[in-house]
Amino acid sequence: MDIKGSSSICRTCRKEVLVDNLALHESHCGRFLCLCPDCGETVSREQLEQHRLEEHSQVPIFTKKSNTAAAARAREGAWQEIAEQVNA
Ligand SMILES: [Zn+2]
Ligand SMILES: [Zn+2]
Repeated sequence: MDIKGSSSICRTCRKEVLVDNLALHESHCGRFLCLCPDCGETVSREQLEQHRLEEHSQVPIFTKKSNTAAAARAREGAWQEIAEQVNA
């Protein structure tokens, strides 16, 4: 199989992309995706905060898998704070 042109790896999603398209692809990718600095996984920009909290957070509220009403309220409060920071 003949491959026309050479390809390169997108730094954001790590897909193989034709060099001709790479600049366009990366700018598009970079707008919607980013790499998690903690695990190197590709996560959508919107979900990065949530991903980091759920996967890598040291905050006990999120790491503790508790189903009590108090824990649920605490989590909700914490999410509220995060939402306010994001929207600020
Ligand atoms: Zn990409
Ligand atoms: Zn991660």
